[in-house]
Amino acid sequence: MKFYPAVSASSAFPKDGMKDKDEVVDVMKTYAIENNFVLVTARSQIPILHLKCAKGGTYRGRRDGGENVKRSTETRRVGCPYLLRFSFRKKDQKYYLLRSLHEKEEYHNHPLSPKELSALHEGRMAKLTKEDITLTERLFKENAKTMKIQDLLNDERAPGNKLTTHDINNWRYSFDQRSDIRRSTTPDTNQDHRHKIKKEANIEGEIGIQQQRQKQQQQQQRKEEDLIGKEKE
Ligand SMILES: [Zn+2]
Repeated sequence: MKFYPAVSASSAFPKDGMKDKDEVVDVMKTYAIENNFVLVTARSQIPILHLKCAKGGTYRGRRDGGENVKRSTETRRVGCPYLLRFSFRKKDQKYYLLRSLHEKEEYHNHPLSPKELSALHEGRMAKLTKEDITLTERLFKENAKTMKIQDLLNDERAPGNKLTTHDINNWRYSFDQRSDIRRSTTPDTNQDHRHKIKKEANIEGEIGIQQQRQKQQQQQQRKEEDLIGKEKE
C-alpha cells in the first residue's frame, strides 16, 4: 500500500495554540486545501477536536440535512488514515495540536494533487475566484439556467476545474435560501436567520482567503510534485 505524506500540519498551526475552535477549523481547512486535500471534523467535544481527511473511511455525515448525505456519497472514501488531533487546555483556554498517536495518521493513502482535489465538492468550491462568485450569484438573481452558468464559469477556467451542475444547483439552493431569509423579518425565523447569516459569513471568509490561496498555488503544486508518490511501505 502506498502512503503519501502531507506538508506538516504544525507548519500551519501556531505553536502557542488558538483560542477559538472555529478559527482552528478554518485555519486547518485552508492549510488542507492548499495541500490538495479536504479536512472534515471527525470529533468535536471539549477537550477533544479531531480533524480527518474527507477520504477517511469511518466518517459518517451527521443527519442534519440533505447536503451532508449528498456530500458523503460523492466523496470517494478510501479509508484514508490521515488525522489531526487537537486538545483544549483549560489552564490557558486554548487548543493545541497534539502529536499523532499512530504514524499512519501523518499520511494519506491517495495522491495529493489538484486533480484529486477537484474530484471533491469542497475542493471545487474552494477554487472559485471572487469574480466567479460575483458572476454566479448575479446569474442566480437573473434566474439563469444552470448549464449557462456552467459554460460561463468554464470559459475562464482550466479544464478539470469546473463545477458540476450538481455543485451549481446546491449553491443556487443555499443562495436562494439566504435571499429568502433576508427578505423575511418575522420573529419566528430569527434563529434560522442567525444560522444562515453565520453560514454566509463563512462563505465570505472563504472568499477572503481565496487571494492568498491563489498566490500560493503554484508553489504548493511544486511541493506536491516532490511529495507525491513517496513510498512508505
Ligand atoms: Zn487523505
